[in-house]
Amino acid sequence: MPVITEDESLSSWAHRANLDVQFYLQSRERISSRLFYGDPDFDSTPDLKTFLASREEIVSTNAFDSSTMWTIPPGVADFVCELCLRDSLKNHHALIFKKSWRYVMNPICNSHGSLLSTFPPRSTDRMQYLSNLPRSMRTRLQHKALEVIVSTAHQQQIRLNSSAPSITSFAITTNRKAEVLKFIAQLFLHSGDQTGGIASFFLTSPRPRNRHRQAMGWRLLFISGAVESSSLERACALIMLGIVSGDIGEEEINTLTAVLTSHDYFESLAPYDLGRLSKFMLPEHATSITKRLNEYVSVMKCDAYLKFLRGFEL
Ligand SMILES: [Zn+2]
Repeated sequence: MPVITEDESLSSWAHRANLDVQFYLQSRERISSRLFYGDPDFDSTPDLKTFLASREEIVSTNAFDSSTMWTIPPGVADFVCELCLRDSLKNHHALIFKKSWRYVMNPICNSHGSLLSTFPPRSTDRMQYLSNLPRSMRTRLQHKALEVIVSTAHQQQIRLNSSAPSITSFAITTNRKAEVLKFIAQLFLHSGDQTGGIASFFLTSPRPRNRHRQAMGWRLLFISGAVESSSLERACALIMLGIVSGDIGEEEINTLTAVLTSHDYFESLAPYDLGRLSKFMLPEHATSITKRLNEYVSVMKCDAYLKFLRGFEL
């Protein structure tokens, strides 16, 4: 039976383990029944833990736990780092898939610093990956601008998702600041009937029109937008989060703006303008959103956030 590699998902390991015929016969049914009802990558039901613990080869029964509650549902899309897959083929002679590719605020590979590729959701049984072609990235950005966006977003991703307990870690879901940052990220990524939030509006072509969206309240648009967005949109949302929380300073904002304006993009990334544009995208829901954003002043505690609010309140 294969040894679990660092950050490997349950479905990845189970898929590899099934290559062993004897193990396949003993456990395929048991594991599949868990996967069918639970999450194929993170489901650690007590039964499954007992089963895993009975296999001496496996070091930890918590190996497949997620380190965040904010994950992309397996029926929406699969994201992969193609360089990691190449390395796993070279080093383990198998495709190994990581848990962290399913985390919403983790659009960039921590090992290679590259944006994750989008694949349609896995089909047939939920352990099967990559049965379809990757989706192409919807962006007008040229290579140089994309490079700067990805490297800035990666730094912000590391700050937010640090594995060590920190105040902004999305790993700690009861943390008030993480909740606030999640709400603001959802604001930047929300889905609409004609377009998405400003993280989508800035850098990619509009999302496909969906008339059913019109019947949804804004809370649902926030939740669905974040999990439906591409890795590039989530990278942009990370940068915007960094700007309104003061992690990304004026000098860095100017560098980013200069790169973008030299590539056909003319909006400023200053906190005030992020607020102004966010409100512009959601005029009919602005009052209830502003109310919540105002409550967050005591958590955010920085000038950049106050400027963002001022833009939103106009
Ligand atoms: Zn990678």
